Amino acid sequence: MEILRVENLSKTYGDGETAVTALNHISFSVQKGEFVAIIGPSGSGKSTLLHILGGVDTPTSGKVIVDHTDIYEMDETALAIFRRRQIGLIYQFFNLIPVLNVEENITLPLLLDGREVNQDNLTNIVEILGLQQRLKHLPNQLSGGQQQRVSIGRALINTPAIVLADEPTGNLDSKNSADVISLLKKLHKERNQTLIIITHDENIALQADRIISIQDGMISKDEVIRR
Ligand code: ADP
Ligand code: ADP
Repeated sequence: MEILRVENLSKTYGDGETAVTALNHISFSVQKGEFVAIIGPSGSGKSTLLHILGGVDTPTSGKVIVDHTDIYEMDETALAIFRRRQIGLIYQFFNLIPVLNVEENITLPLLLDGREVNQDNLTNIVEILGLQQRLKHLPNQLSGGQQQRVSIGRALINTPAIVLADEPTGNLDSKNSADVISLLKKLHKERNQTLIIITHDENIALQADRIISIQDGMISKDEVIRR
């Protein structure tokens, strides 16, 4: 089943002499539960693409259709709800709230959405991420790997349909990188969530179901990984 379709997507930043075309007529679709790696040189448009898929940056032209709805045809309120409920975002530098403890950081999206914490879901996520003993700690009391696991928990607590990760291991050593990727794989499989990861790491890309290569704002290659 198709969950996401991008049609003729373009993005230009600025105008006149300083205009930069970050995405140039990109089209592709993603199946529910698929794990897609996005690779490509720095500046090729990967982050721009991910942000547009997540509803946090607007395209110049083209469509992003999630579950049969063009998200950029939605009004502001509907788009905000879409972002909160259907998208989980994970960043390279974690972006945790320093004054909130682990449990508060993970459950923040629910709070912002005015929803109750489902304790079974929270316990399940915390156990998978191995954070049971860290719930009351602040981010700066955690190692980098632990902080990234907290940000995974925060991205998944709303059971979003699509999880988007921008270089999630870019700030981690190889052991922590491997752990974070295997957790993301395990969680997306168990929950049948679509997982889209930008990565520079070939070993991570090769674990995906499919690798989309971006070059100069265009898809230069789109290959299914056979195993
Ligand atoms: P990548 O993630 O592949 O490194 P980006 O999507 O971050 O690439 O950037 C694609 C292009 O768009 C680059 O040339 C970058 O300089 C430009 N760009 C990204 N964000 C902005 C912005 N906010 N304003 C102007 N140009 C931008
Ligand atoms: P890693 O091996 O993952 O890099 P660290 O060496 O940074 O981990 O930390 C080892 C352990 O010490 C971790 O369990 C972490 O939670 C704990 N820790 C690190 N810094 C602090 C701190 N400032 N306060 C409390 N515990 C900490």
